[in-house]
Amino acid sequence: MTRPGAFRTEDLTVRYGGVLALDSVSITVEPGEFAGLIGPNGAGKTTFIDSVTGYAKASGKVELGGIDVLPLAAHARVAAGVSRTFQSLELFEDLTVAENVLVSTENARWWSPIVEFVRPRTSTMLSSAVEEVLDLVGLTAHLDAYPPDLSLGERKLVSVARALATEPALLLLDEPAAGLDSDASLVLGRQLQSIAERGVSILLVDHDLSLILDVCERINVLDFGRLIASGTADEVRNDPAVVAAYLGED
Ligand code: ATP
Repeated sequence: MTRPGAFRTEDLTVRYGGVLALDSVSITVEPGEFAGLIGPNGAGKTTFIDSVTGYAKASGKVELGGIDVLPLAAHARVAAGVSRTFQSLELFEDLTVAENVLVSTENARWWSPIVEFVRPRTSTMLSSAVEEVLDLVGLTAHLDAYPPDLSLGERKLVSVARALATEPALLLLDEPAAGLDSDASLVLGRQLQSIAERGVSILLVDHDLSLILDVCERINVLDFGRLIASGTADEVRNDPAVVAAYLGED
């Protein structure tokens, strides 16, 4: 259910009026890698996701499998394999879990006529795609439940499932652990690890530093819109610039 190809930004830059929100940020996420993105408040983390997914105007390059998707509109980037979640969960409260995921599948189908021409999907294929995605996030037992009946952690996983329903090569997650206690964060982190092991590249943005250090293979650190470090948990933990900019805050 995944498409191959490394994700790479090159000199990604975003200005909001006089604010340089992202300053020449170059980040690589290998296929199937579970990467993290951290940084203090206002460092540019959401702006990074917004610029990669077409929600913020940016300059530079955003490559997926060697193709620059930056010139594409947001919906075309989804068709190209870039998917995201939002800080607000954006679930349909009056649809079941399975229907919430199905709607995303249908949206992806609607927006990718060329893909559909090559690879038409029947309703049976759509329902098996929904089942596969719900299995991937561990929500098979809840497919007929409504979002308000789920725990916050489960609702977060529904939003991840909705993003996965578009069959992304790259999944960008905007603070999915916000509001979760440490146990629920860890459950979410482990579930995300198993998704990455299935070949989906993940970039996890979060304030929960211990979660990112625990589950991510490579961690990128932003400060004032600039990439100040990129490495393993140990490398980042011991980087003086990171300690000064971020870890020193705690
Ligand atoms: P947080 O951890 O608080 O969510 P963040 O790291 O996600 O912060 P961003 O929200 O990307 O940071 O903001 C980066 C910078 O860009 C900040 O200075 C912010 O005030 C500014 N900014 C973000 N969105 C806009 C906007 N739509 N218009 C103007 N400035 C913006």
